[in-house]
Amino acid sequence: MLKPNAHYADLKDSYLFFNISQKIAAYLAEHPGQRLLRLGIGDVSLPLCPAVIDALHEAVSEQAEQSTFHGYMPECGAPFLRETIAAHYQSRGVKLKADEVFVSSGASDELGDILDLFSPENTSLIFEPAYPAYVDANVMGGRKIIHLPSGKENGFLPRPDESVQAELIYICSPNNPTGAVFTKDLLAEWVDFANKTGAVILFDAAYEAFIEDETLPRSIFEIEGARTCAIEICSLSKTAGFTGTRLGYTVIPKELERAGMNLNAMWVRNRTTKTNGVSYILQKGASAVFTEEGQKQIRANIAVYKQNAKTIMAALDALGIWYCGGQNAPYIWLKCPGGMDSWQFFDHLLNEAQIVGTPGSGFGACGEGYFRFSTFGSPADTQEAAERMRRLFRS
Ligand code: PLP
Repeated sequence: MLKPNAHYADLKDSYLFFNISQKIAAYLAEHPGQRLLRLGIGDVSLPLCPAVIDALHEAVSEQAEQSTFHGYMPECGAPFLRETIAAHYQSRGVKLKADEVFVSSGASDELGDILDLFSPENTSLIFEPAYPAYVDANVMGGRKIIHLPSGKENGFLPRPDESVQAELIYICSPNNPTGAVFTKDLLAEWVDFANKTGAVILFDAAYEAFIEDETLPRSIFEIEGARTCAIEICSLSKTAGFTGTRLGYTVIPKELERAGMNLNAMWVRNRTTKTNGVSYILQKGASAVFTEEGQKQIRANIAVYKQNAKTIMAALDALGIWYCGGQNAPYIWLKCPGGMDSWQFFDHLLNEAQIVGTPGSGFGACGEGYFRFSTFGSPADTQEAAERMRRLFRS
């Protein structure tokens, strides 16, 4: 008899976004026509930049001509894009070979698929508060999970503890939802720990483009020793507005080996079996992100989100509300004022100021009492939300 993967029964329902949409629907039913200001979304609001659009159009035209038509693409990525991404790392002082870069359809896909490289008997260490997909991907694979809570006292940046026994370590920096970013020294502690214990770090760099403090690492490969213990998973979703276009990349150094097996070679085998490559059109569009013009244009879009962050941070500063993030990340993580818990604060903001954010408790137990604002909304809505908060909390 067919046996389904019984681990799916161990998944906890994610009530977070369901509850939010239920509460919004109920509020709008009672207050028809009210304009809600949505600072909860993790999706971008600005369109793709002109350099990318031009490259996409050009690629579509190439597909119409016999002489420039592309069929199946190489499974691990088009050489032109792998080389471009490696050169981009090089421009930031990180030496990579093109065949250490794997082009993907986005970070979410890779965060789940990469677990194919590791035995289900391994234990995964997940820092909390965390992006919920890490936990669910491990539950589906039947892996044991150790949760490592973090808080205000350590700036939401946990340090390794010798008592922790885990073979896979998830690090997301800049972090979703807290916006906390590991310093080189703190990240080096985790790299040393992994090299010592034989663990592998899965480094989620989805928000690296938001780092403006040049002393902070944008890639784990800026840390000495990372090439023997880390895999980096990155995405153009937030960097260049590719959430609906889909393109990411994963870096697996050639030196990364465990039990005599080479993880780069294993991933080549995995990709050549399980994918037929990312569309030529998207890879050509993505390569435009790394041109001088593309970089200028994506920086201009990121600057809009950064201005949103400044607008929210100025309001929180004026109101004396504690927060972190915002400076080097597109998320602002605040302590709910007046001792409210995460959902009480959600209701208060919705009912009294028609602002929607994300309750921190949805990212793990230690997120209770906190709240996340995203800076990906429109500047007009963000300014209006900041103004409404000033009025609400002053009174
Ligand atoms: N990693 C983190 C921390 C995220 O917040 C997200 C999306 O919000 C992703 C990965 C997924 O990115 P992608 O759109 O490339 O799948």
